[in-house]
Amino acid sequence: MRIDLHTHSSVSDGTDAPASLVARAAAGGLDVVALCDHDTFDGLAEALAAGAREGIRVVPGIEISAGRRGVSVHLLGYGCDVGDGALGAELAAIRQGRDGRVPAMLAKLAALGMPLDAQEVADQVGGSPSVGRPHIADAMVAKGYVASRDEAFASFLADGGPAFVPRYQVEVGRGVDLVHGAGGVAVIAHPWARVSRSVLDEDVLVQLAAAGLDGIEVDHGDHDQATREHLREIAARAGLLVTGGSDYHGTGKTGHDPGSCLTAPDMFAEIESRLAVESSRA
Ligand code: AMP
Ligand code: FE
Ligand code: FE
Ligand code: ZN
Repeated sequence: MRIDLHTHSSVSDGTDAPASLVARAAAGGLDVVALCDHDTFDGLAEALAAGAREGIRVVPGIEISAGRRGVSVHLLGYGCDVGDGALGAELAAIRQGRDGRVPAMLAKLAALGMPLDAQEVADQVGGSPSVGRPHIADAMVAKGYVASRDEAFASFLADGGPAFVPRYQVEVGRGVDLVHGAGGVAVIAHPWARVSRSVLDEDVLVQLAAAGLDGIEVDHGDHDQATREHLREIAARAGLLVTGGSDYHGTGKTGHDPGSCLTAPDMFAEIESRLAVESSRA
């Protein structure tokens, strides 16, 4: 069984439509793929329908823009009820924060000699309800300011970079509670990639596990082998599930091809059994 529990579509900052993403995952030999767009469930219906056609199991997911002490932490939720009111309200607040920071980022880019207008960003956002820095990066590429998304982040958009503007994020412990309230399973995405490592030491992961966090994503392209081994030990001590996923965002974008990092079948079976318990309570 080949199980990839972390991908993005054009409904957030990926570039493949949900159905194309699922078709690609199936053609690549995956048995299970989770769609985890940032802060929106809008791609799930299309992805689930495509999964039925393509003969691949699609797990409904989300990647929630959470944080701790103002530092970004990404939280994956699997099997959430997309109609849950409390989670839906929080996601709406996060998306509002995403919209609200765009003008400030464009002002910073203009001051750096790289003007972009709102329409040039909108052209990259397309139909996504969840505007993100990758869309601004794509607009910078289209305008010829940088050669790639990665260059846009490395030089300007990364956390603390010259064109970075923070936005609203939900406190990670509250995010876990919201995922559980919606019947889902909560897993911290790439805990030791980029900035989140600074606010997620072993003690914090143990505390979050005691408060109900289900698992951590260990097998991720931004974790080297030593990091993965260390996180696996912490997970074993804390009783956390271990997952893996590609964080695919589209060909040539940040992240890797579907299936480049996988979740072990026994871990996926445990996620499914927790989801079954939650749905039988509903
Ligand atoms: P945002 O959600 O608007 O804050 O942007 C975060 C998204 O940008 C992440 O989900 C990644 O897709 C991408 N990203 C964040 N940091 C980097 C980086 N240093 N290099 C490339 N992409 C990044
Ligand atoms: Fe992303
Ligand atoms: Fe992420
Ligand atoms: Zn992701």
